[in-house]
Amino acid sequence: MKDLAALENWLRCIEARLAQEKDDLNALDAAIGDADHGSNLFRGFHKVWEKLEATPPADLPALFKLVGMTLIGTVGGASGPLYGTFFLEAGKTLPAGSQTLDDAGLAAALAAGLAGLQRLGKAEKGDKTMVDALLPAIDTLQSNADLQKAAEAARQGLAATIPLIARKGRASYLGERSRGHADPGAASASLILECLAGDDTS
Ligand code: ADP
Ligand code: MG
Ligand code: MG
Repeated sequence: MKDLAALENWLRCIEARLAQEKDDLNALDAAIGDADHGSNLFRGFHKVWEKLEATPPADLPALFKLVGMTLIGTVGGASGPLYGTFFLEAGKTLPAGSQTLDDAGLAAALAAGLAGLQRLGKAEKGDKTMVDALLPAIDTLQSNADLQKAAEAARQGLAATIPLIARKGRASYLGERSRGHADPGAASASLILECLAGDDTS
């Protein structure tokens, strides 16, 4: 079960970890992209944090909409619209006025978010993208409602990107040379799932 405060803590955790780890994410992106993934996401989630401080959203749909719109507006790159769509589509599953999400509702919301992200980006499992961490995590959440296991599945999905050849995004321009490096978007997705599991009280 997650309430508004727990989900705000999730977003604060993401912002705080990105502040710490953005250089590491940039370094992953330097190997197979343009070295900006950590900076891009930190800019977006820092803006989310500022908006949460200034005007706390009244209900869960408003929270997810705030996150999605802010990421689309401030992150840029490939990941901004993708993560933005993820949060927007997740939020659309939630009834107006809702203040809490049970385990099944959370799993369904994240699954809808991932479906929207995949409609936009057209990445499938194995294309060496954020989908490789998000998909196993959300599948795990849907089958057994355990956030720790979901975060572990995301970490495994991240590790599994290392030997892959990138088929989407900038890294795909490298072809064979994208092998041997973890995907930066899979790394940020794993961070996002770890934060969701971090304050789990269920
Ligand atoms: P850019 O590549 O525009 O600089 P970022 O560095 O912020 O954007 O994000 C790169 C990450 O975005 C990649 O590591 C990958 O995980 C993800 N990505 C790129 N294209 C796609 C796509 N079509 N579908 C899903 N994820 C993608
Ligand atoms: Mg980049
Ligand atoms: Mg870029």
